[in-house]
Amino acid sequence: MNTNRRDFVKTSILAAASTAFSPNVLLAATRPKKDKLGVALVGLGYYSTDLIAPALQNTKHCELKGIVTGSPDKIDVWKEKYGIVDKNIYNYQNYDQIANNPDIDVIYVILPPSMHREYTVRGANAGKQMWCEKPMAPSVADCEAMIKACSDNKVKLAIGYRCQHDPNIQAYMKATKDQKFGKVRIVNSAAGYYEGRTTHWKQQKAMGGGVMGDMGVYALQGARLATGEEPISVMAKTSTTRPDIYHEVEETVLFQLTFPSGAVANCQTSFGMNMNWLNINYEKGWIKMEPQTGYGGNKGMMSDGTEIYTPLDRQQPLQMDDDSLAIINNTPYIAPGEEGLRDIRVVEAIYKSAAMGGCEVKI
Ligand code: NAD
Repeated sequence: MNTNRRDFVKTSILAAASTAFSPNVLLAATRPKKDKLGVALVGLGYYSTDLIAPALQNTKHCELKGIVTGSPDKIDVWKEKYGIVDKNIYNYQNYDQIANNPDIDVIYVILPPSMHREYTVRGANAGKQMWCEKPMAPSVADCEAMIKACSDNKVKLAIGYRCQHDPNIQAYMKATKDQKFGKVRIVNSAAGYYEGRTTHWKQQKAMGGGVMGDMGVYALQGARLATGEEPISVMAKTSTTRPDIYHEVEETVLFQLTFPSGAVANCQTSFGMNMNWLNINYEKGWIKMEPQTGYGGNKGMMSDGTEIYTPLDRQQPLQMDDDSLAIINNTPYIAPGEEGLRDIRVVEAIYKSAAMGGCEVKI
């Protein structure tokens, strides 16, 4: 193709595309392909500081390039520790200008849940690939808006379900799929920790707090991944032993899920105690995982004596490398936005059941 013809074709494609998409979609589409993606973290709290930024020092297909923060006092520390340059540092007001920054390919939203929708939608509108922490958002409506914004802007949306990238979790999922011990009958799934903080967003309804979104989604994921099915109904009860702290949101939730096959799962989650295990009871055997959602080193045993244990330093580098490769190769994410939405649909049903005194609610 000669230069004029090539330019003409390119211009025509851009002109046609411009009628359909926002300018940022075009900007993203014309950027050269990279084999190592630049990631910007939004929110520099515990999970960004202690887990995700260190994990990004051990990834092959992405690297930490930018930060978005409302705390100016954190900037120098992050600049010095990770060599982040001034032009890649944003605050919550000028965040949208990230659209013009070719260093940033992916935005990872690591804020309190009530902020996930706004910062995912703004990031998608800036034409960036989006990753967002769990719980995806406080409501189904929020999740659907996030999925739509990413779809409208032709970017992908992944949820930070790190466990789904862990070979130890994949091992029990495979045993269920292969029917190694026959069909799943009963699952027991627990995820919780003693939360000693008393005035954090985790105790505030408006910020998307409450144990169900925080640790409950892990108990729920354990049941969904163990059965390989989507629940069709739930009965739930919430309780608290510390009403002075847990009056806006719940401290503990017990919920029982029924699956289409007839399998049932008894699940529990709490900010009042440490617990982290999954028991899968099949027709002809069992699998026990403990812990089931640790950052590294999840362990399990099967009733035939097979051990489940691939030692891992951390799950987060695996997660971010898998998700980067899905962007680079344009393949599906292991845990896309639709996966986050599936959980929030169940979470809404759990709250509805609890509000009705534990009545069965169809999902
Ligand atoms: P955190 O409280 O330590 O950090 C929250 C960050 O948001 C802080 O930097 C804070 O300054 C910022 N922020 C901005 N506006 C805020 C506001 N109005 N109120 C409170 N904070 C505000 O929380 P975290 O533990 O880092 O959790 C952040 C997200 O990461 C949550 O969605 C949480 O569920 C998720 N998380 C996931 C995992 C995992 O294993 N996947 C582990 C921990 C946390």
